[in-house]
Amino acid sequence: MHPLLSNRVNEIDVSGIRRAFQLGAKLENPINLSIGQPDFAVPEPVKQATIRAIEQDHNGYTLTTGNPLLLEEIRTHLKDDVGWDLDREDLDVLVTSGTSGALLLSFMALLDPGDEVIVADPYFVVYTALGPMTNATITLCDTYPDFRMTAERVEPLLTDRTKIVLVNSPANPTGVVLTKQELDDLADLCQDRGVMLISDEIYDLFTWPDHLDETGHCPSPARHLDDMLLIRGFGKTYGCTGWRLGFAAGPSWLISEMAKLQQYSFVCAPSMAQAGAIAALHTDMQPIVDRYQARSRMVVDAFSSLTEVNEPGGAIYAFIKVPEHMDCSATDFCEEAIRRNVIVIPGNVFSERDTHFRLSIAADEEKLTEGLEILTDMMQ
Ligand code: PMP
Repeated sequence: MHPLLSNRVNEIDVSGIRRAFQLGAKLENPINLSIGQPDFAVPEPVKQATIRAIEQDHNGYTLTTGNPLLLEEIRTHLKDDVGWDLDREDLDVLVTSGTSGALLLSFMALLDPGDEVIVADPYFVVYTALGPMTNATITLCDTYPDFRMTAERVEPLLTDRTKIVLVNSPANPTGVVLTKQELDDLADLCQDRGVMLISDEIYDLFTWPDHLDETGHCPSPARHLDDMLLIRGFGKTYGCTGWRLGFAAGPSWLISEMAKLQQYSFVCAPSMAQAGAIAALHTDMQPIVDRYQARSRMVVDAFSSLTEVNEPGGAIYAFIKVPEHMDCSATDFCEEAIRRNVIVIPGNVFSERDTHFRLSIAADEEKLTEGLEILTDMMQ
């Protein structure tokens, strides 16, 4: 490591992900079931609104908090979805540079060195990297074998340094959707203990029908509590991950500090993407969601007689156990899969354990079928 570099960068390990990519990069025409972004085109009205913004020379900074028209759309959307009245003085919303931008700003606004954040294991890889990035300590909540980050599992991990419980449902990498009751219990626990609950709901739209709550939406603790931070994104929902767009809503005291930090870092979210997103919230994505659900079903059906499959309730992944009779690690399994032309990611990229692999359903049905045949063949 170069002597000028910070300890921070030294503490962030990207080796697992890099290894998975390097292995895959050698293949000429792989069946790639490792991709964490949807494989559909951005809806036409969203594309057109974005192009129009550029052509009409709306290319300057927006307000740090976001394009007022988009903010209005988000306020209406959240009122309808989680029942929050964002016109209230004590609640606010901020448009961010991706969901990642919202996560980083929230951590920077809340954490001092040594403060603790509880996240589920398995986790989305950015969560653990946010520890060194903000000098905070990440405490992992072991959620095997069902991958549910419940209040019972979180409670023993709370200390007087815990400031954040970060929950992600529908989850990356497991596809697990927590129930309304589980999320409400988590919200109550955080409220009782004076801890900020952050709910990363980037996959909210990708929730399969039997996992929706009684309001017909993805279960969210925000329907139970508004003293929390709700983070959502546009990238996965509308197939525009590269546009870097998300939003955070929650207590004004927190949103205003996140906005202050945004002003001196990201400045604002990309302006043309914000213009496009105004059209996005009116687009019907149900046909895409149905298609993803059918793919998720294909995965469960393929593996259920061969190994432990935790049936995903949403997101774009399944997290599948390498059968015990194979007596190998997930890394070994994934290396063998790559030799057979299929790319899936070993569990140790997302976890302390190396027993499962993540399979993405963001691949067309033909490729997915081919990939499933190869992977299930390996398990016979
Ligand atoms: N949270 C989760 C759970 C994710 O899976 C991802 C993207 N893979 C993100 C946040 C970051 O999303 P964005 O591209 O909006 O920054």
